Amino acid sequence: MNFTLHKKLNSRYGHVISGVMKIAETVTFGGSGLNRAAEWRGRADELRLHPAARTILLWRGKPMLRGDTLVRVPLGHPVMADAGADLILLGIDDAGPVFAADLSGWTPPDLDTTHLDTFLDPSEQRHPAMPAGTVFAELRAIMTRLSPRDAELAVTAKAIMGWHLSHRFCARCGTESTLAMAGWQRNCAACGGHHFPRTDPVVIMLITHGNAVLLGRSPGWPDGMYSLLAGFVEPGETIEAAVRREVFEETGVRVGAVSYLASQPWPFPSSLMMGCAGLALSTDITIDPVEIEDALWLTREDLALAFTGAHPRILPARKGAIAHFLLRQWLADQLD
Ligand SMILES: [Zn+2]
Repeated sequence: MNFTLHKKLNSRYGHVISGVMKIAETVTFGGSGLNRAAEWRGRADELRLHPAARTILLWRGKPMLRGDTLVRVPLGHPVMADAGADLILLGIDDAGPVFAADLSGWTPPDLDTTHLDTFLDPSEQRHPAMPAGTVFAELRAIMTRLSPRDAELAVTAKAIMGWHLSHRFCARCGTESTLAMAGWQRNCAACGGHHFPRTDPVVIMLITHGNAVLLGRSPGWPDGMYSLLAGFVEPGETIEAAVRREVFEETGVRVGAVSYLASQPWPFPSSLMMGCAGLALSTDITIDPVEIEDALWLTREDLALAFTGAHPRILPARKGAIAHFLLRQWLADQLD
């Protein structure tokens, strides 16, 4: 491994990386080794009384931060007057139990709805009980600035809260269910059904042929932006089969050997991106215009140029996304 990079990663990930983590796990949302304390979920009320218990705060999926740091407040903080009664237990860190509180019921007095529900909402909201410089901000916009620990806490809270929002009713009988196990379960009193948080598996693949990588773009993306092909794994399908099927469906390219590289939780709203490498057996491209707008083979040299912003036509995937990370690692020959 490149020594400078190793040093950089070590300073960022501390003890976690040495001998345990692959470079691949240093992807944004790659995890921080948080103790999720699952054994406490059934008696989280006791942890709520812990003098060091704190909570992070989310408003409509946006975590609250100050600068580049997630804000943690004691459970008795005045801002909690606007929080829902249910707290999600995220885990226990060196300072004590960490919860997540949902402030979505609060409506900012000067709420500008122009950007809400857009792909990347640049607006920020400040709660009156919090000091200036403390804001709710879109996770996609701030994800690369967070420490690995804060990124894991934020991504987990956003995923779980999103699940509760879209799974209020029992999938077996349609009755409204209730939150249980400190947010990690929903129970139905009518039929006795237990429901657990959903994660949807997605394959995203670095398909190469010699010195070139296969990239595609979807309709509606910013002009010139190309990224790795991706698609949902279907029921009854392996990861490898999903990689080969998606690439063939979208581009007509046949893929041979497939190997797993790295994964990334992607709570927009509930995906787990599984990054794979695949070797192309053919190079002719026939796109499926329903799925993608264009696909092309890009050489390492052209990709390097695209990353500097100097390519006349191609913009690479956004920073923070696993596609960007895998392409960077491929360029640096550091896929492990
Ligand atoms: Zn039910």
